[in-house]
Parts: sequence; structure tokens; C-alpha cells
Amino acid sequence: MSHTLPLQLQSLMVLPESFYSRVRPEPLGKPYWVAQNHTLAAEMGLRPSEIFDNPDNLLYLSGSGKKYDPAPIATVYSGHQFGVYVRQLGDGRAMLIGDSVAADGKRWEWQLKGAGKTPYSRFADGRAVLRSSIREYLCSEAMHGLGIPTTRALALTGSNDAVYREQVETAAVVTRIAPSFIRFGHFEYMYHTGQHQNLPLLADYLIDQHFPACRDAENPYLALFQEISRCTAELVAAWQSVGFCHGVLNTDNMSALGLTIDYGPFGFLDAYDRHHICNHSDTGGRYAYNEQPYVVHWNLMRFASCLLPMVSESELVAELERFPEMFQTAYLNRMRAKLGLQTIDKDDEELVGDMFASLQGRKVDFTLFFRYLSEVSNQHGEPLPERLTALFNGPMEAFTAWIGCYRGRLRAENSDPVVRAERMNAVNPLYVLRNYLLEQAIELAKNGDFREIERLHRCMQNPFVEQQEFADFAVLPPEWAGGICVSCSS
Ligand code: AMP
Ligand code: MG
Repeated sequence: MSHTLPLQLQSLMVLPESFYSRVRPEPLGKPYWVAQNHTLAAEMGLRPSEIFDNPDNLLYLSGSGKKYDPAPIATVYSGHQFGVYVRQLGDGRAMLIGDSVAADGKRWEWQLKGAGKTPYSRFADGRAVLRSSIREYLCSEAMHGLGIPTTRALALTGSNDAVYREQVETAAVVTRIAPSFIRFGHFEYMYHTGQHQNLPLLADYLIDQHFPACRDAENPYLALFQEISRCTAELVAAWQSVGFCHGVLNTDNMSALGLTIDYGPFGFLDAYDRHHICNHSDTGGRYAYNEQPYVVHWNLMRFASCLLPMVSESELVAELERFPEMFQTAYLNRMRAKLGLQTIDKDDEELVGDMFASLQGRKVDFTLFFRYLSEVSNQHGEPLPERLTALFNGPMEAFTAWIGCYRGRLRAENSDPVVRAERMNAVNPLYVLRNYLLEQAIELAKNGDFREIERLHRCMQNPFVEQQEFADFAVLPPEWAGGICVSCSS
């Protein structure tokens, strides 16, 4: 027997060898399946049984196969980490094992994350622990369920081999999937190491594979930057709208395709706090929830500077200056939808700002707030839904005043409450992958019980539809959830 994975030569191989190194996975002892994503397999045009029922595929996807063909590669990139340039990062524990092409012509790249050292591992071990791999597997699929662009996860394999972090943990490998894993950091490496001849090669590669329309522009490279700015603005607007905090928005964790990438110490807001910091290593709050749009803009500036050999400074600056408005437009569109509004009003920005100001300091659950807001009637003076007011801890005057404005706005557009509630529930999730839910699944998994991973995966595929069997995922987080500490350790 041999593996039955439909892997072709990496399309990235059209780039010169200065972009990557050939690597060999380091096998793990007695690997086992932790999770299999049958839904994604089908989306990729694969028969799940063909992928998951073959013991050689288990070996291959855990980095423990006998022979790897095509030869896996690890790419080199730089990045600004917490604002500081770091020359050599790169795929320190990820390797590209090949591409597959679905019947519709869609090309997917396959990466193994945690399959051992590469030339870019620096002093680290090239491994990933089960805990962080479950987080990546589930959150990438939860983001997809929310309709937010993201890398995907096809499979999760584990082994009892020890991995040393703050404690001894066990190893895992995620099969990570994306149309491309190119990051801002790939451009930064070529620019800052003086290999400027490689910049147009990388830009051409991205244009040919992912942004073909840019080819017709007067300057395709400027058009590429505009496209990347646009998808990045839309991405961060989507994050803000569901209370997602990435946690480590370094430029090396920014996808050139506007995908959410590198799930580490991320978190969804439980109680709304605009200054929420989900990464306990981020003591200064550089990557706090309300900072994300600004820091992503800053990251785009770092990216833009790498295009200076190909695009004029004035054009890049002009494009960068457009970003705040591009973000704000995308954000307000999302917020209007969350509020069930169907028309645009010049005061919408104020309406949204006042709403969040009325929530600040009241420990209101972000997700359930929007879900229950759909039950508010249009009429002045009618009592508010009890489960909505029960979310507030502390005085509610500011919120009741805000409700007055909101109702005025609803009446002005002749909103039908029943239809509005349906519309709101289609964009405001009932379920998000809260850190405490992940913690519960991780604890069970450490004892060999992977069923909660499967349940969370199934639930998060349809986060907008109430499902009786997942009633326990739709409640307020328990007291202990506030004490969960997630750091960069993974
Ligand atoms: P991250 O903070 O996960 O985005 O990683 C930053 C850099 O460190 C990337 O170049 C990673 O590939 C590398 N890295 C993180 N963890 C490990 C590890 N356990 N072994 C090797 N490289 C790692
Ligand atoms: Mg990273």
C-alpha cells in the first residue's frame, strides 16, 4: 500500500530556490487521527473515505510517511514582530507537501504544521502541541463557518511523543490547506535582504495564481497592492464584527490573500471590552481588539515599502491613505447588517459608536447581545426582552437611551420586526468558538477522548442556526472562563 493523496508538484516551484528549501518531515511515533474534516475533503473534490480510511495517509499526514513525493518545501520570510523587524523567520515548523486541484480547477496547497524542523526553525523544535493544534483546527473551520476568509484544516493527527513547552505535552500535526500561504513577510524578506529582483517574481506569481484581473491594469503591481489592501480591510472588518481577536498581528502572520492565518493566542470576545487583549504575552496591548484595524494598516505600510522598487511612493501612499475609509465602509456595512438595518444613514457611525459606548464596562456578552437584540420591538416604551437586559452588569441608562435612537431608525425604514429578526439571526452567530469551549475539548482530548472536538466542529459549521443538541454551546461562559490564559506558547 502507499498513500492515496492527490498531491501534485507545488505551484510555488515556479519561483527560484531563494524562496524555499527542500525539507524532510521527522516521523512521529505511532500516529493516530485526532480529527478528520470530511466536509472540507468533499469541498476539495475528494472522497473522504479515500483520504481517511487509508493507514498510509495517516502516516503521510503526520509527517511519518516513508517517502515524500513531491519533495516537501519550507519557505523563507521575514516579519515585523511586535513592531520590530526580524530578518529570518520562515516556515519553522510548516512544510508544503503538494497541491491538489479540484474538478472546478481550484488549486489547494497542503501544508503539514508540526512535522519537524526546517532551516527556519532557529532554536525551536519544529513541533506543535496537541493543545494548540486543536485550537488551529477548530478555529479555522469556525471562521469558515462564519463566512470569514481563512486557511482551512483538513486533518489533525497526534502522537504520544513528548513535546516540551512550559510543561511536557504531546505532539500533533495539522494538515493546513489554503489557496496560498504567501504572507506580507515573504515580500519583506526579499526587500530587506536586498534581493529586489525577486520582488516582481513573487508579485507576478500572486497575480497569475490569485489576482489575474490585476494583469490588465496600467501598473499590475499597484493593482495588486490595491487588491491586497481591499481584502485586508474586509478581513479586519469581518473580525471586528464577530469580536475576533487574532492575538499576534505581526506582518509575518498577514496573508497576501486576506485570509486569517496562524491561529495562536486568538480569542472571541465574551464580555465586550473594546480594549480586550487576548494574548497574555501582549503586555502593551499592541494587538488589543480595538487596535486591530490600526495595526493591520501599519502592517500594510510595511508591505507597501517593499513594493517601492516597482511602484512609485506617491501611488503607494495614496493607496495607504484610502485604507481607513475602506475599512470603515466595510465595517459599517457589517454593523448595519448586524443591527438589521437596510438603509444607509449619515448618522450610522454615531449610532454604532454610541451602542458600543453603552456596552463598555457593563460586561455584556458580545455574541449573545446581537442575537438577543433581534427580539427588540420597534415601538417606544415597550419593555426590552428580559434575556437582553439580563446581559448587563450595572446601570443601563446609556443603553436605554441608545435603544430609543435605534427604534427611531427602525421605524424610519419601516422595518418589519419578524423579517428583521430573521435577517439579524442570519448574520449574528449564536455560537462562537469561545476559549472555554476549546479548553473543555482540549482537556478531554488530552485523555484520548476526541468527541468534543467533533461536536464543536459540527456546531461551528452552522453558527447562525440554533441546534438543540448544541444548547450547551449557546450559554454565557462560566466564571472560570475569565481566568483562561492563552499565550504564544504552542
Ligand atoms: P508564530 O509566532 O507562530 O507566528 O511563529 C513565528 C516564527 O517562529 C515562525 O517563523 C514560525 O515558523 C516559528 N516557530 C514557532 N514555533 C516554532 C517551533 N516550535 N519550531 C520551529 N519554529 C517555530
Ligand atoms: Mg506565524
